[in-house]
Amino acid sequence: MKITQIVSDILDSNTFVCETDNGCFIFDCGASLEKVMSAVKGKVLAIFLTHGHYDHAKHVLEYSKTFGCKIYANKNVTEILPDPAKNYGENFAINDFSDFVLLDGDGQLSIGGQKIEYFYCPGHSKCCCCYLLNNHLFAGDVLFFQGIGRTDLYGGSKLEMLSSLKKLENVDFEIAHSGHDRDSTRLEQNKNIKVFERFLSR
Ligand SMILES: [Zn+2]
Repeated sequence: MKITQIVSDILDSNTFVCETDNGCFIFDCGASLEKVMSAVKGKVLAIFLTHGHYDHAKHVLEYSKTFGCKIYANKNVTEILPDPAKNYGENFAINDFSDFVLLDGDGQLSIGGQKIEYFYCPGHSKCCCCYLLNNHLFAGDVLFFQGIGRTDLYGGSKLEMLSSLKKLENVDFEIAHSGHDRDSTRLEQNKNIKVFERFLSR
């Protein structure tokens, strides 16, 4: 599986294009359509949103219309995306959810013969969802290299972040791809998660 990281010009958020034998998956939509198109080879099978903040969702409908595929996201995006005060994009609002498949809690999908697990991980936002594809965790703004997402934005919660970290501790991933900054290994995240579990438990 080939994974291309594209850094957007909105708060340096990451968009990832994953090329599998059966087609591509895209995680987050902050990067311009043009940049993403140059990384896509073949058919796009699905788009995933890790959460509804503007820097991750800005181009999502451009992608879904261009590639003709569905957008998977936690169901709480229907509260976050229509409201700029909650998605932090000036004048940014999505009210048309016809291209969306709304996910509830944790579960498993099969798309193009590919298994994708999803984990509801609130704390940074109430619509945060992490995705596991072939031992690669797409962690959005929940886990960073040496950090976690801020919990002081709308719908954030330290207590929920703590239980999301505990949940991710038990997920079998080798590499975490975060919504900003560089990737991290399982070993790096073991340390990172422990540090922030202690910090959030105080
Ligand atoms: Zn965010």
